[in-house]
Amino acid sequence: LGDRTRYPHGSTVQVGGIRFGGGQSVIIAGPCSAETPEVLLETAAKVRESGASMLRVGVFKPRTSPYTFQGLGAAAFEALIEARSRYGLPIVSEITSVSQLDALLSTVDMLQVGARNMQNYPLLSALGTCDRPVLLKRGLAATVDEWLSAAEYLLAGGNEQVVLCERGIRTYERSTRFTLDLGVVPVLKGRTHLPVIVDPSHGTGRADLIHPMSRAAIAAGADGVIVEVHPRPAQALSDGFQSLDLPGFKQLVTELEPVAQAV
Ligand code: PEP
Ligand code: MN
Repeated sequence: LGDRTRYPHGSTVQVGGIRFGGGQSVIIAGPCSAETPEVLLETAAKVRESGASMLRVGVFKPRTSPYTFQGLGAAAFEALIEARSRYGLPIVSEITSVSQLDALLSTVDMLQVGARNMQNYPLLSALGTCDRPVLLKRGLAATVDEWLSAAEYLLAGGNEQVVLCERGIRTYERSTRFTLDLGVVPVLKGRTHLPVIVDPSHGTGRADLIHPMSRAAIAAGADGVIVEVHPRPAQALSDGFQSLDLPGFKQLVTELEPVAQAV
């Protein structure tokens, strides 16, 4: 990873027709979780119309409480396949266990390793030997060195299609759910060739902060953002409080354009 000589301008990661690290800002949007096929298709249609380049959808959800909605699991796959074929958006979805790998490989375009699994070494090793792009989120309390070592597990196995995602870290500050560490974007750019994106939804836990922190992420040099979007956030089964509604997402895309042009 430290060997930037192989990629003096940074590496790029191709997911369907979308390229991370090629200079354009990738905007990934979608619900925290797949809920019903109708809500998923409605969200996919609208985010695409507004300019999203990829769809995010959780099916295996690592929820803090075992008594909250745990995701639909494999029951959501049909709706994901339908959303992709109707709207042509590549899909990223989280893998929480090696046992889900085969099913996810035949359903989604990019595999997300969530914050809670950043140091799940059997999972990282399994993904290191598969030929599918990986979105590696930063652990809840991971240092840059620990995060890059986790990425190294993927690269060491031969999978170089890795995108890093800053998603907030645990600090003493309680006005946001986590503390979004945007300083890490230029730090990573100096230390690794991998593309870097930012998740202001999980990073702040507040829908009202998604617009300013997305603009700041792109201004800091991020290769994109991943945001939670729900047609009716108040009714979402997970993370509605940190999800944009559909007009809010449309507005975000408009706001990011001039920032991306300026960097
Ligand atoms: C998610 O993106 O749905 C998620 C659970 O994120 P994180 O792992 O960053 O908490
Ligand atoms: Mn979420």
